[in-house]
Amino acid sequence: MLTIFLPNAGCKYRCKFCNQYSMTGEKMPSLNYLKDYFNRFNNQSPKEIAFYGGTFTGLKLETQLTYLKLVQSFFPNTPIRISTRPDEINDENLKILKQYNVKIVELGIQSMYNDVLKASGRGHSVEDNVNAIKKLLENNFIVSAHLMVGLPKDSFSKDLNSFKELIELNVKLFRIHPTIVFKNTLLENEYYSGTYVPLDINEALDICSEQILISFAYNVKIIRLGYFVPEEQKKQIIAGPYHPSFGDIAKAKAIKKIIQRLKIKNVYFPKKYESWFYAYGNKNLDIKRNIWDGNLKFEEFSLQEASKLALKERKKKCGTIKNNQ
Ligand code: SF4
Repeated sequence: MLTIFLPNAGCKYRCKFCNQYSMTGEKMPSLNYLKDYFNRFNNQSPKEIAFYGGTFTGLKLETQLTYLKLVQSFFPNTPIRISTRPDEINDENLKILKQYNVKIVELGIQSMYNDVLKASGRGHSVEDNVNAIKKLLENNFIVSAHLMVGLPKDSFSKDLNSFKELIELNVKLFRIHPTIVFKNTLLENEYYSGTYVPLDINEALDICSEQILISFAYNVKIIRLGYFVPEEQKKQIIAGPYHPSFGDIAKAKAIKKIIQRLKIKNVYFPKKYESWFYAYGNKNLDIKRNIWDGNLKFEEFSLQEASKLALKERKKKCGTIKNNQ
């Protein structure tokens, strides 16, 4: 995939946690830079082109068209993906996106709770989220929903419920980011004044491993879990549950939850899953590991069945969790 970063471009609000310049180190590319960049492909089309880092459909219409036409002039058949926010989805935008071969829309939902959205300075509502998803799906776009965990006014149950509500709306792709406090953001001020307390790494892993179980149970994909922060930008992280292998650790924790909650003694798996049962502390699990060519199984249960049962076990133990827990 060829990725073009347009840091904070088209954003009419600055969300409390966001400063794309700090987070990515990227600068706004000039059109000449993009032309040179595209020329280096010698007419060989990349599989996909993505405009990330801002609110593409929040850009002036003529700017959107300039980018889309530029891509089309170099790579006429290459599918495009853009990132945007729910309150910048409208019929006019969708018509243009369709016309220029945009297939996937990365949609910054972040939460399905209005108090969380408000406290995070998002500037849009849950109603905007629902309307945008419905409109995009009706128009045959693939929606990749972005969620954050550990935002101001967030909780364990709100994070899980937000995820489930989006699945019910028929979203199949997700990116989930634990909230990190970056330099030069409003959240940095709140962190220093003590009004925002970030999750610690264990709390974030607990929530996200539960979301992984939900994704297995409902057959949806989390295509990214945890921030990718380039090495040179790591000094911009002030606080929060950052780990370069956050997604892998959360997955290992989800597997551990299945094994412990269902008291599994035998696992059967193709070799490609081996790391799930050894990495990040899972080496010490008291299980018999059987490598085979069949599907991944926990005793007689498939991954999906085992995940559903593991979620049920948690519910049994915790009862109904209120939204502020
Ligand atoms: S989170 Fe998204 S919408 Fe908010 S300021 Fe950052 S890029 Fe813009």
